[in-house]
Amino acid sequence: MHGTIFDIKRYAIHDGPGIRTTVFFKGCTLNCQWCHNPEGIKFEHEIMFRPELCAAECWDCVPRCPKKAINENGTIISIEQKKCDLCGICGDVCAYESVEIVGRDVTVAEIMKEVEKDRIFYDESGGGVTISGGEPLAQGDFLLSLLEKLNEKGIHTAVDTSGFVPYEILSLIIERADLILYDLKVMNEHRHRIFTGESNTIILENLRRLSEKGSNLIIRMPVLKGLNDDPENIQSMVDFLLPLNKSRQINLLPFHRGGEGKLMRLNKKSPLVEFKTPSEKKLRKIKGELSSHGFHVKIGG
Ligand code: SF4
Ligand code: SF4
Repeated sequence: MHGTIFDIKRYAIHDGPGIRTTVFFKGCTLNCQWCHNPEGIKFEHEIMFRPELCAAECWDCVPRCPKKAINENGTIISIEQKKCDLCGICGDVCAYESVEIVGRDVTVAEIMKEVEKDRIFYDESGGGVTISGGEPLAQGDFLLSLLEKLNEKGIHTAVDTSGFVPYEILSLIIERADLILYDLKVMNEHRHRIFTGESNTIILENLRRLSEKGSNLIIRMPVLKGLNDDPENIQSMVDFLLPLNKSRQINLLPFHRGGEGKLMRLNKKSPLVEFKTPSEKKLRKIKGELSSHGFHVKIGG
């Protein structure tokens, strides 16, 4: 069985306890406009071009493209996505690593080989492996197989999910994951739909059911100025989360602009609005408000 991933990051310290390796699954069930990993949204492989690395006027890639998809205008190259079949030749040719195919199909054994390299760090720091994305549960069977193997090896596991998945899959995953990092983005259903492409009804219902089951959860809230940092949204979160006994830890993740450059590199459209990072003061205020209701709140992952 193969799964599709777009990255494996070692020494991660913001994706669960201790030192971790984070495996990023490719493909997501939501389409959040502020996503800082836009290369994880599409399930298929795609081509990414970094103009800032391109040593303009080398043009080595242009004649090597079998589909004649690369053009140069004397200053920079451009890639015609419709012609490109993702063969990867341009990436192999480019000495400046300016072009890259994002996404690779891997087996569980290949991932295990990579993540087991840092076993000593997991053991010493109380860390482990986090599976993120994209939406890892969108590749449910592959995720289950990977979790089973990690369980077998005694490696701590965390799964980062948007919750926008069928509960049947989620319930299988929580049996095998030590920790669920559950994203809670926007409480207002209409606003959630506008900025993520989907309603939050299933997400909230799944969170309620997971909590009833007593799953080990950390709520992760990306905080965006003007989108979800208003008192109404925070109050709405409190009203929803308070009755859920097992959801006491909330991590506030301030928005950062890391995804913007990637959108351009992937030749994707910019979001409808310009998202902004909330001020330190605002983050502390939200933390104080949530803490006053008994939640354990941390700013950062
Ligand atoms: S080979 Fe690399 S550096 Fe040269 S033109 Fe192509 S993308 Fe740019
Ligand atoms: S991936 Fe292959 S087809 Fe696509 S631009 Fe590069 S060389 Fe051409």
